[in-house]
Amino acid sequence: MSRFLANRFTYMDAYIPGEQPSDMEYIKLNTNEMPFPPPDKVTATVKAELDKLRLYPNPDGIRLVKRLAEFYKVKPENVIIGNGSDELLAFAFLAFFEGGVAFPDITYGFYPVYAKLYDVPYQEIPLLDDLSVNINDYTAIGKNIVLANPNAPTGISLGLDDIETIAQSNPDHVLLIDEAYVDFGGSSAVKLTQRHENLLVIHTYSKSRSMAGARLGFAIGAASLIEDLNKMKYSFNPYNVNRLAQVMGEAALDNDDFFEEKRHEIVAVREYTKEKLQEMGFILTDSKANFLFCKHPDIGGFELYSKLKEKGILIRQWDKPRISDYVRITIGTKTQMDALLTAVEEIIMRKKL
Ligand code: PMP
Repeated sequence: MSRFLANRFTYMDAYIPGEQPSDMEYIKLNTNEMPFPPPDKVTATVKAELDKLRLYPNPDGIRLVKRLAEFYKVKPENVIIGNGSDELLAFAFLAFFEGGVAFPDITYGFYPVYAKLYDVPYQEIPLLDDLSVNINDYTAIGKNIVLANPNAPTGISLGLDDIETIAQSNPDHVLLIDEAYVDFGGSSAVKLTQRHENLLVIHTYSKSRSMAGARLGFAIGAASLIEDLNKMKYSFNPYNVNRLAQVMGEAALDNDDFFEEKRHEIVAVREYTKEKLQEMGFILTDSKANFLFCKHPDIGGFELYSKLKEKGILIRQWDKPRISDYVRITIGTKTQMDALLTAVEEIIMRKKL
């Protein structure tokens, strides 16, 4: 830390992204990326755009915004794109949560970081013992709320009736639904944004559209909410989404069949992996995301994580009360998951010797 850092950041802990070690080739199951690249029809669009790299991108990403509006059956004024959904989350915290925000005690680790960065008071509401969200904890609480749906890292999903109840019962506060993982089996609240002017839904291309490296996300909500997010964006970085990401984003929507097929594949491999882990004695949440969240009675989370890393497989584990026994495993290809299952079986067998 330099002596020049603003006082208010002295004790702020920054977000720690999943590790990307370079000492060897790992099977990477720690950051919920897709194991498949985007199709050629998507990546080929980059080539035609390279000639235009000397020019700034369209600051509104208007072509992509229009295409997203068509795809999700809303109007262009209901959509904003961002440099990953993280950036849009940051804009939302900055724009709407001055008076405070509530979110679960176990959820995406960036929420408390943004709260601290923007001096937003926050309340962490404990999940139930089974790690699900208790709707009553959010109904008519008169607070801004952020919920990842499906939640991360549990993968547990809320139904749209519950989302609607929370939105309706907190009419004077913003309900932000982070749908980073919704395409793997959750229900999207996008259509509810037409009825609830306080509901903002954030999506990403990083997971179900295989484009984590392109940094592209979008938010859908009432035109007035989107206008406010644009105010943040134009006060921070007007050209936040580069040209290459914008054209790939459009092409991904044009090739949704490809992604639909891959999403189904991931869901099938998830269910297969879940069954095999259950047979080995693992306890798992009902994940509707592209990862599993699980624990085993014979081994702690950190030990399992460390032993898998020694075997060249990266998963994620948190040294956090309530979930330190758990690990989160991203769903890769069937081959990758078979390698994981073999390694896990070996580790558990050895523990029992
Ligand atoms: N929300 C949740 C719940 C996530 O897990 C992630 C991925 N770390 C994000 C948002 C951010 O994704 P991105 O910035 O890549 O769009």
